[in-house]
Amino acid sequence: MPARILDGLKIRDEIFAELKTEIGRLHNIGIRPGLAAVLVGENPASQLYVKSKIAACEQLGMASWLHTPPANITTEYMLQLVRDLNADDNVDGILIQLPLPGQVDAKRVLEAVDPAKDVDGFHPVSMGMLVSNRPGLVACTPAGCMEILRRNQIAVEGANAVVLGRSDIVGKPMALLLLHANATVTICHSKTKDLPEVIRRADIVVAAIGKEGYVQADWIKPGAAVIDVGTNKVTDAAEAAALLRNFPERLEKFRAKGNVLIGDVHPDAAQVAGALTPVPGGVGPMTITMLMSNTVKAARLRRGASATAARS
Ligand code: NAP
Repeated sequence: MPARILDGLKIRDEIFAELKTEIGRLHNIGIRPGLAAVLVGENPASQLYVKSKIAACEQLGMASWLHTPPANITTEYMLQLVRDLNADDNVDGILIQLPLPGQVDAKRVLEAVDPAKDVDGFHPVSMGMLVSNRPGLVACTPAGCMEILRRNQIAVEGANAVVLGRSDIVGKPMALLLLHANATVTICHSKTKDLPEVIRRADIVVAAIGKEGYVQADWIKPGAAVIDVGTNKVTDAAEAAALLRNFPERLEKFRAKGNVLIGDVHPDAAQVAGALTPVPGGVGPMTITMLMSNTVKAARLRRGASATAARS
């Protein structure tokens, strides 16, 4: 039986509706949550990401500010900009769009962000809060994966969960979130031995490695839940034909468009898994969703009791 499709767009709409209600209540007590985005230079992909983040703020009735320093910016200028945003009480969340140009010390800039406004969850203080399971701002993509599991009633407690990838922004926080939800967690990386065997034991697989179709269908335990974080653009016709051999409609679309987005899990896994996030339309929409959610959460945590009361 084909896997149940875990629709990220549907969950985004649900969470947006909840956030709209909460933001409406915050407006009633004079609070307008706001996100400041910093976009350095003119990278077209980054421009597109930031544009959709600002559009989401507008859709939800949140304030947003866009700062666009030129590509030849210095670390010192960036640090001053971050200090100004830290000091601005209207700003609840600060988003530094990555990558930053090579001459900018990205680590110093990210660490200068006030942890209370760290809506990307990248600051070491945010990571520390997550490690010790205290309330804080959690990296958006893994937080979104947990929402997908929770809102589809996929049991995490007691499950064997395997996370592929150990990056600071996806793999590590994902493993910690699953651990705090009482899964038994295994983290795999490029040096893991017998990866197919490790994955075969998993009730929940989260793949975040950045390699299209890498996880084969016969590595998946029948009925397992598969969360595919990978978003890889495939442009090679032979590769697309091999990956989409059982998906003639998608292959047709590839032929018309010249590219297709493929996750880290082979599309054929849909025949084995019990539930699966599609690519695109699974984890992808959750990242912006959780950025919005984190900005509202930051507003609530920063602005104290009256804002917290507006939640319920
Ligand atoms: P990353 O920083 O490049 O990390 C990749 C991880 O995968 C590393 O830990 C690496 O291991 C591991 N890895 C690589 N090859 C492997 C293999 N053959 N077997 C086992 N592990 C392997 O990537 P990332 O930033 O975490 O992103 C991962 C993927 O998620 C990418 O496709 C990215 O585009 C996607 N992504 C999607 C969203 C979204 O919104 N949907 C958001 C963020 C990321 P080592 O540590 O040993 O090198």
